[in-house]
Amino acid sequence: MGHQLERIRNIGLMAHIDAGKTTTTERILFYAGRTHRMGEVHAGESQMDWMELEKERGITITAASTFCTWKDHQINIIDTPGHVDFTAEVERSLRILDGAIGIFCAVAGVESQSETVWKQANRYGVPRLIFINKMDRPGADFDRVVSELHGRLGANAVPLQIAVGLDGEFRGIVDLVSMKAIIWDEDELGSRYTEGEIPEELLGRAEDQRINLLEKLSEINDIFLEDYLEGVSLPADRLISEIREATVSGKLFPVFCGAAFKNKGIQTLLDAVVDFLPSPVDLPPVTGIYPSTGDFITRAPSTDEPFAALGFKVTTDPYVGKLTYIRVYSGKISAGDYVFNSSADRRERISRILRMHANNREDVKSARAGDIVAAVGLKRTTTGETLCDGRNPIILESMIFPEPVVSVAIEPQSKSDEKQLLLALQRLLDEDPTFNVNYNRETGQTVIAGMGELHLEVLVERLIREFNVRANVGRPEVAYRETITEIADAEAEFDRESGGRRQYGRVVMRFEPLPIGTGFLFENKLAGGAVPKEYIPAIQKGVEDACSCGVIACYPMVDFRAILLDGSYDELDSNVMAFEIAASMAYKSGLSRAGPVILEPIMEVEIHTAEEFLGDLISDVTSRMGKIMGVEEGYGGKIISSQIPLRTMFGYTTELRSRTQGRATHTMQFWEYQKIPRAVQEKIVEKTRKGY
Ligand code: GDP
Ligand code: MG
Repeated sequence: MGHQLERIRNIGLMAHIDAGKTTTTERILFYAGRTHRMGEVHAGESQMDWMELEKERGITITAASTFCTWKDHQINIIDTPGHVDFTAEVERSLRILDGAIGIFCAVAGVESQSETVWKQANRYGVPRLIFINKMDRPGADFDRVVSELHGRLGANAVPLQIAVGLDGEFRGIVDLVSMKAIIWDEDELGSRYTEGEIPEELLGRAEDQRINLLEKLSEINDIFLEDYLEGVSLPADRLISEIREATVSGKLFPVFCGAAFKNKGIQTLLDAVVDFLPSPVDLPPVTGIYPSTGDFITRAPSTDEPFAALGFKVTTDPYVGKLTYIRVYSGKISAGDYVFNSSADRRERISRILRMHANNREDVKSARAGDIVAAVGLKRTTTGETLCDGRNPIILESMIFPEPVVSVAIEPQSKSDEKQLLLALQRLLDEDPTFNVNYNRETGQTVIAGMGELHLEVLVERLIREFNVRANVGRPEVAYRETITEIADAEAEFDRESGGRRQYGRVVMRFEPLPIGTGFLFENKLAGGAVPKEYIPAIQKGVEDACSCGVIACYPMVDFRAILLDGSYDELDSNVMAFEIAASMAYKSGLSRAGPVILEPIMEVEIHTAEEFLGDLISDVTSRMGKIMGVEEGYGGKIISSQIPLRTMFGYTTELRSRTQGRATHTMQFWEYQKIPRAVQEKIVEKTRKGY
């Protein structure tokens, strides 16, 4: 496929769940001739939602990548998930996209989740088109959605189309650039449409909207303003290039409409992708750092530059094994090449390069700047890592993921299930860096922590279905942690006879609190040869392993330093195991005396509400032990910013809806871990003792 860089579009579709992202992607692939049968989401045969689970639930979980060609342009599409719990996947895809289509429902308008994703895209500076979908539904209101785009998202949204036929009668659009009407045939699955004159009754509105478009362009470009005021003729191609420039620079968001499900508005949207969204060369060079000096360097989007690419997703494919999705920023690679992973400082070989179409694949010989492909053969490259030319290394900005704050306990039913569980979790961890696994020695349970309830539910279902693990699964809970607040010293000696052999090791250690978020540090301050060097790693490991179970309620112990001060050994009877155990004994006795406390995740919660519920919702936040950080004017109401402990927020979505008859929505994200109040800690300890 010999497309020039100018003819590539790397785009994503972003939307609130149910706005029609999957249906729109399906139609795009259909009209661009990539699929021959249209899959319907509701019938469970969508081509993009290929995981069994996604089919059953009709939602998109993994971001699959696919491509198609339209008017001699190659369009690479990354399908991004819509739910907050998968926000890391959304961030990952925004990072590597050149442009996006924001899809909104013509009836529901701007919903809270689309607001979150929109702001994320602002942060990554992604140019966007807006597609107002479901224009066929009764109650569809194009103008209202446009004004919400202005009000709630602060987006300079400018219609390039108006609808023909309202309230269940939607038939087509008026293109405000060409000032022509486009009407779709009902029976030809939308593949045929006719261009004609604007219907009489829409002429006035079309004129008004075109003036609005010209005025918006005038606000952005002074030269255009002069030409417009002087009445210079403004042909379609002049308008298209003005709109393109404004869109690429993020100053304007052109708005289109249609009904994906009714096969209307897709071809015109594809034209817009080609006309208005940037190619890889339209964007500034990507910035990274030079590994040994930390200096900023750049790579221009050109095959003449050294190779640089970013891994943005890892999946396991049943046929070819591990697949690493990469976005190539510069240079070129061929199947069989060695590449340098600059983030992890190691060389890897790419054995095959695949172009992905949902779960089908096509082998290609090489990949170049601007391409999005899947690489086979990269054994140890994970999400967010940079691959590059070893002689010209660069580390592209990596991604930071939020903390996993909700956890669930899993109890394998048998020894073989336990083995299978460990294997499966390792595979899932390769794919998804946003959850973690912890073993609770006291209960024998494996605890996995993730972004939210849905995230965990999906992980658990995959364990059970894909990996056939039989296990009892607990209820989702807050992922608490433990830490210490004081310094304490501890001495521990392990001296035992087992199987006719003595085992011996003794350590003296000091434990010190560290600031929240630091993690665990180990320091060796041993004088002389009190303990031989080969046992030091065992002592560190003894403490590190013990950290999975804190001293209060067996939550992971974090944010402290263990210092090895002294110890003794026996020439004959000491071994690695004895020192590991001695260290874990010191951990237990030392930390219990170091003022241990439980830490809990505090969430940043933003509530959008109609004004009449403001007082009620504020006092509700307070009763959830939350802090009000501010109240602002929002579109059609108020916005409450607050910080609330996660433990009081389970089931909030439902409660908010019933409290306000659906006239308030909220978004929630992790803020920080904080010490839990004494009284609450005591309750947790009591509950742990009783077992539940
Ligand atoms: P996603 O969650 O954003 O991927 O949305 P889907 O594509 O799964 O669509 C959600 C639901 O809306 C499905 O039942 C679709 O059939 C329906 N839908 C999608 N587009 C349209 C449309 O243009 N008109 C109508 N009436 N329904 C649509
Ligand atoms: Mg979907």
